[in-house]
Amino acid sequence: MKPQLDELFARQAARWPLLAQGIEGLARAATRTMRVGWFDVLVRHIPHRVVSTTAAVDRESVLKRPCFLCAANLPPEEEGVQFDRDFTIYCNPFPIVERHVTIVHREHTAQSIAHRVGRMLELAAALPDCFVVYNGPECGASAPDHMHFQAGARALFPIGNDTERLLLGRSFRAVGAAEYGRNVFLFRGRDRSALADRMDRAIELLARATGRRPEPMINIAAYYESGEWTAYLFARSKHRPAVFYSGQLTVSPAAIDFCGILVVPLARDFESITADAIAAIFREVTLPGQQFQEIAGKLEREC
Ligand SMILES: [Zn+2]
Repeated sequence: MKPQLDELFARQAARWPLLAQGIEGLARAATRTMRVGWFDVLVRHIPHRVVSTTAAVDRESVLKRPCFLCAANLPPEEEGVQFDRDFTIYCNPFPIVERHVTIVHREHTAQSIAHRVGRMLELAAALPDCFVVYNGPECGASAPDHMHFQAGARALFPIGNDTERLLLGRSFRAVGAAEYGRNVFLFRGRDRSALADRMDRAIELLARATGRRPEPMINIAAYYESGEWTAYLFARSKHRPAVFYSGQLTVSPAAIDFCGILVVPLARDFESITADAIAAIFREVTLPGQQFQEIAGKLEREC
């Protein structure tokens, strides 16, 4: 896939001004490395993300706007590369990281991970050097009505550096917020369908424990290296933190933020945000510890 994507980025940057602006905007993005406990969070000031960060994703607002992922509504300059019969890869004109793409379903069908974890892992294998991410419809997807994944260069993702320390050589580990500031299930494996089954099981247990159907509040990230997948399932209790609604900080964490790149569209937040504030935001939107530990216990007995 890499040569086709290189070619797509070159072609699209030349003929699609919005993408060219986005790439320039990312090149100007300022980044602060903040130490939160023993791990790093990169705070990135990216002004062009303000629309996504503050997007109204309630049912009524979504129904009112034309869907920006439907092929019929794309700007005339925008082209994609076919991934498989269902998904097309497009350059994201509002990048958070290098080579930021959106992988969009050909149909206007709701954002849902059911029966698609395997597909997500296939995407990760086809996009080496990238993190593939999924944001649940209530956890940061700015188009909850149109199925999509995102992917981007993984060189920068802090969670990649923390993973060996978190996994401790195992193929599954539940890492609680007390240890890593956010609750996350980590998976590693070489067998794609076995891995997808384990992740599906974790998603099912989360749905059962939280009573949220058809899908619990989750973000997922995955990458592929040397024949092996590593995947992160973040369990959530809340879409946005209180500081978002009070106007104190315009942040709205989703998969990329939980992977350690916290997107901050406003300059004043970039200056004022502290490690304590980041820790408090993660703590507030992650699933409460007791619920997480109960599911972790079940999964550990099964894995
Ligand atoms: Zn659509």
